[in-house]
Amino acid sequence: MQTLRTLEALERDGLVAADPRLAEAAEAMAIAITPEMLGLIDRDHIADDPIARQFVPSAAETEIAPEELADPIGDEARSPVKGIVHRYPDRVLLKPVHVCPVYCRFCFRREKVGPGGEALSADELQAALTYIRNRPEIWEVILTGGDPLMMAPRRLGELVAALDEIGHVGVIRIHSRVPVADPGRITDDLVAAIKPRRAALWLGVHCNHARELAPAARAALGRLADAGIPLLGQTVLLAGVNDDVDTLDQLMRALVSARVKPYYLHHPDLVRGTGHFRVSIARGQELMAALRGRLSGLAQPTYVLDVPGGHGKVPIGPGYLGDDPEGLQVRDAFGRTHRYPD
Ligand code: SF4
Repeated sequence: MQTLRTLEALERDGLVAADPRLAEAAEAMAIAITPEMLGLIDRDHIADDPIARQFVPSAAETEIAPEELADPIGDEARSPVKGIVHRYPDRVLLKPVHVCPVYCRFCFRREKVGPGGEALSADELQAALTYIRNRPEIWEVILTGGDPLMMAPRRLGELVAALDEIGHVGVIRIHSRVPVADPGRITDDLVAAIKPRRAALWLGVHCNHARELAPAARAALGRLADAGIPLLGQTVLLAGVNDDVDTLDQLMRALVSARVKPYYLHHPDLVRGTGHFRVSIARGQELMAALRGRLSGLAQPTYVLDVPGGHGKVPIGPGYLGDDPEGLQVRDAFGRTHRYPD
């Protein structure tokens, strides 16, 4: 089985029927579904399948709501140098490539990612490194994209080594879908390329459903964890994929079992053509409250919203405190309230 990259390939595989709106959707964003993800799709229930829903283009992508944005988290407004996003004083994003193993239809960078997307040239990468080198306040560099683990191990190793040589960089963080979507890329060479040196190296793994943590993905995560790389889970809350408490419960347990600490549950961004994936913040808070009653702190992600316009992430609850004439009301994990003499 090969990665499917065209509508025709999806049609031949029985994943979509001919529909002119799909051509429009495919024009707006590249298609890629790896053999690992294809193998997880329930062919008897494609229309409702949480894996298919993430990667198979839908006619709903052609419906653009007025509040939806081309750059929903304001990367462009905060980019002083090509490939760098500098939103907070002590950290930057560095985007060396725009390719990914799969193309997630809800992606907040859906208009940038794809095989036609521009990778940084050698000179542009040097300019981005110089920007970091010249700013001693930058303590954390987050490699994102696209997916940095799509780089050849040698090139990725050189980039990690260059960052490691910048004395004020204390943390290098890599965000990736590769361990889940294309686990065969997590080879010994790749692990050696990113293995911690002076700076701490953390890896954020994007995973939205427990089924994505198939044996090959778990083995890839195991290789990374065995090399001393701490793993964080990043999940996007998505209608029809994981917007119910049992699915989130299973996912968070599966992540912790694979040695991945659930880090963020992202509220879906206002990305153009992704209204069919969005849930309300009230529903997200309800789900988080239900998880609080079920899972230990180890398995709890923080529910966050990326404030449109480049203003960064904030936790969006639910809150557990209310007013009380003699102090505060505290709501416990099971919904009961208690007075606290603050
Ligand atoms: S892997 Fe990440 S960057 Fe690439 S399409 Fe999916 S969400 Fe977007």
